[in-house]
Amino acid sequence: MAKVINLAERREQKIQEKLHSPMQGWIVWLKCPQCETREYSELRMAEGRIHKCGTLVEEHEVEIDIRAELTVSLRNSELISELLNKTNAKGFLKKFLKSGRAMLEHLERSEEEYRKRLELMASCECKPYPDDWDPVEKGLEIKKMDPLGLQLTPARQPELHFPDAS
Ligand SMILES: [Zn+2]
Repeated sequence: MAKVINLAERREQKIQEKLHSPMQGWIVWLKCPQCETREYSELRMAEGRIHKCGTLVEEHEVEIDIRAELTVSLRNSELISELLNKTNAKGFLKKFLKSGRAMLEHLERSEEEYRKRLELMASCECKPYPDDWDPVEKGLEIKKMDPLGLQLTPARQPELHFPDAS
């Protein structure tokens, strides 16, 4: 018996696949050997770049899956917002920092900034992976930031890319 192909279903399936497949990108880590500063950029520059002090910076490109980075970052933000809601309650945050709230807000800004860069990098709309997607299962070496439990992907661990740095 011939199989009936449902074109609309097929099309929908294609869209879903596209939404859930990896999206290649690069994060460039920059280190000024003079000032010892490290920062990241979403811009790849073949000709290198000069730090404001006039020194040529060391560059290290890290290939990433933009979708994976986005997913982990959104999960971090979710956690941060849960923690922020707890800071007023009698919670564990009280025991370690009076300025816990400011620290969380700072962390949230870093996540937002990171996602802004990811968005600039993405060639088309990028949606996070579904809830059951597990970065560790996909082979990403996640570093957990204690005590909050935020997750750092290898792309966000500059010490991996400049191993000689202290
Ligand atoms: Zn410098």
